[in-house]
Amino acid sequence: MNQPTPTLLRFLKGAVGAAAAAFAHMKRPFLFNPCLDPAMVNLQQNPLLERVWQGLDPAKVWDCHVHLAGIGDSDHGLYVGHKFQSLRHPVFYSQRLFYMNAACAANGPGTVDDNYAQRLRRIAINIPGGFKAMLLAFDWYHDDQGREIPELSTFYVPDSYARQLAEKYPEVFEWVASIHPYRPDAVDRLEAAAAQGARAIKWLPAAQNIDPASSRCDGFFAALARLKLPLIIHCGKEEAAQGENLLPLGNPLRLRRALDAGVRVVVAHCASTGDDEDFDKPGTRQTSFALFARLMERQEWKENLFGDISAIVFRNRKPEIIKTLLDRHDWHGRLLNGSDYPLPGILPLISLSRLVRHGLLAKEALADLRTLRQCNALYFDLALKRSLGWRGKTFSPQVFETRAFFGTA
Ligand SMILES: [Zn+2]
Repeated sequence: MNQPTPTLLRFLKGAVGAAAAAFAHMKRPFLFNPCLDPAMVNLQQNPLLERVWQGLDPAKVWDCHVHLAGIGDSDHGLYVGHKFQSLRHPVFYSQRLFYMNAACAANGPGTVDDNYAQRLRRIAINIPGGFKAMLLAFDWYHDDQGREIPELSTFYVPDSYARQLAEKYPEVFEWVASIHPYRPDAVDRLEAAAAQGARAIKWLPAAQNIDPASSRCDGFFAALARLKLPLIIHCGKEEAAQGENLLPLGNPLRLRRALDAGVRVVVAHCASTGDDEDFDKPGTRQTSFALFARLMERQEWKENLFGDISAIVFRNRKPEIIKTLLDRHDWHGRLLNGSDYPLPGILPLISLSRLVRHGLLAKEALADLRTLRQCNALYFDLALKRSLGWRGKTFSPQVFETRAFFGTA
């Protein structure tokens, strides 16, 4: 997950002040999502939503970055790190509250995990026919010997839970496995996941202790290439990192090993936050996005390097990155839409008026988008991305029609 930890609190301070003033006039929610009924969005008569689907086949639209989460109050095997459970860590604690509110899951003890999944299913059903959400599992932090270390894990979502939901509700869900490559049985697990219909593998290197540039990943990369399973990997800054020393693991330049091995690599969020060491100019640093962009320009990886556009609209991203991504039509065949759900449902995390101020969004879209965010955070993210424009350029339909990319495996 793209963790908004300290930044979120900074936003909240600003947002509380600004929104309190606005609230006095508009009486619209600004901090907590009121979680309205997703069925209240009138699909037939809403011009914004009609525009969302112009030139787009809903059956080909798969959201490739949807977090499955909860608080571990079910028997599905979910685990959330103790910091998120304790008031002694107010930042993490409030982060959990925001996530669960954004997912509209916080109704009564003992039901949060199930509420999370059921709300997700309901909002996915309320997006026109064929749309699917790709549910991400999330493996434990492992030590260098490949042993699971729950105490150092931010959260854990078993492959089995993501798979079971996709099997139970195939009309709206696909699933993505998460397997740590240092595990002695990593390749066996990978083969089993592929046989059971996983559409990709998800890693978050700085939170899971994975160095994609290590030779320890070679066997795993060879199997990924053989099975034609894409690797969705978080690059750039990661607030959920277990210690500063793991942050460099998210450097996009560390992906060269996987790319050379023929793996289809999807860089989550197009590495749109943070900066990293520039190995090509030792001793200097570059934004993570610039390093991602450098890899995108390389001819030899044009067939296997991709980026997902989840989280690019969050406040902690520079609008210039959205402008670049909209402008680079030559990249659009290699960009894949994802939402980073449930984060788009966190009201203070996306400022729509800021996007208007930067010329990326028409003012007329604001009211509908705000309503949609309260009814259906998944649909809101899709509608927002479809509404973005810069100097007449929008994201091509192929950015959203991701089924062919993930469905061939
Ligand atoms: Zn994420």
